[in-house]
Amino acid sequence: MWRTRPGPVSVWKNPEVVTRLNRYYQLIQEEKIARYLLVKAFPINVELSANLETLWIEHDRLSEEFKQYLVEYDQSPDMKTVPKPITPSFLDLKVKIADELLKECCFCERRCEKNRETEELGVCKVGKEAVVSSAFLHMGEETVLVPSGTIFFSGCTFKCVFCQNHSISQEWRDRKTGEIYDGVKRTPQQLSLVAGALAQEGAKNINWVGGDPTSNLHVILHVLQNFEVNICQLWNSNMYLSVEGMKLLLEVMDFWLPDLKYADDDFAKRMSKIPNYWAVVTRNIKMAHDQGSGEIVIRHLVIPGRIEADSYPILEWCAENVPNALVNVMGQYRPAHLVQRHREKYSDIYRGITYEELTQARNKATELGILWEPVS
Ligand code: SF4
Repeated sequence: MWRTRPGPVSVWKNPEVVTRLNRYYQLIQEEKIARYLLVKAFPINVELSANLETLWIEHDRLSEEFKQYLVEYDQSPDMKTVPKPITPSFLDLKVKIADELLKECCFCERRCEKNRETEELGVCKVGKEAVVSSAFLHMGEETVLVPSGTIFFSGCTFKCVFCQNHSISQEWRDRKTGEIYDGVKRTPQQLSLVAGALAQEGAKNINWVGGDPTSNLHVILHVLQNFEVNICQLWNSNMYLSVEGMKLLLEVMDFWLPDLKYADDDFAKRMSKIPNYWAVVTRNIKMAHDQGSGEIVIRHLVIPGRIEADSYPILEWCAENVPNALVNVMGQYRPAHLVQRHREKYSDIYRGITYEELTQARNKATELGILWEPVS
């Protein structure tokens, strides 16, 4: 069956899309304030020189209070007004904690514990400074997001054998010499100018992506300290963050665009060289749904021959656990990177998906009541 997905204007004629992404919808019409700007106006009650444990206690207390503050702000006469930032704010506290975590990095569940402050490199090969591969107005993202102000970081916490972006995710830097093949170093100040330019060009959101943005979580928080534009902050990620990483983002991100690729951990290990995939990624998506903005589009890439082992259980999990999320059931898989170089080793996935496979996955999503058509 031939189908076309709606465009970036007509998609908002779907009342269910408006309902599920309601705060984002109002934010792009400048009727609400981006969460990070409210976080910047939220006072703290701790010295930033306190030890990490004390900082976390204050963070978790504020996290609870922020939920109520946000609800009240959204209903107040000031709902369209950016509040005056204060120093030190909840955002300053998050920046301080992120800078501390960087010294024994645990931003993602690989928990390399490298001192990235001194440029020791973990699995992702990202040091203290961000390396940015490109930044541009992206018209190919999901309809509700375009035009999207994408900022692509080099480096990734995964090693996907079929990665279509391997030149920026895995092959961007020489591990021994540190030489960078793809990307340039950018300071938070420079990145706030880049984000500002994207907003000025008409971006509906600042789309933090890569590779994967997780390794640059500290940089992104620093950028937001220097940034003042009322624009949606969007986390576009493999979602393999640690709980600590998630907690630092929950109040800050307006929109979540996570991948959910595998239900089978053995397959995840073989495909992305990643342990404990299912528990970590579903935990984090659930956190974003229940404790964060709850405005989510999950990307599920259908992989050849994996309908029953991965697609069905993933869609069932989404329907049961994150009912507000939209799901992009994606048919874009093609053999790339190592799958292309070593086709004998990956003969099971050395093909595109069939029309029948994509139809099976999408029919299953329909059967489960998942909202997928507006974004797939
Ligand atoms: S972000 Fe993850 S992979 Fe990179 S150094 Fe930190 S813990 Fe390791």
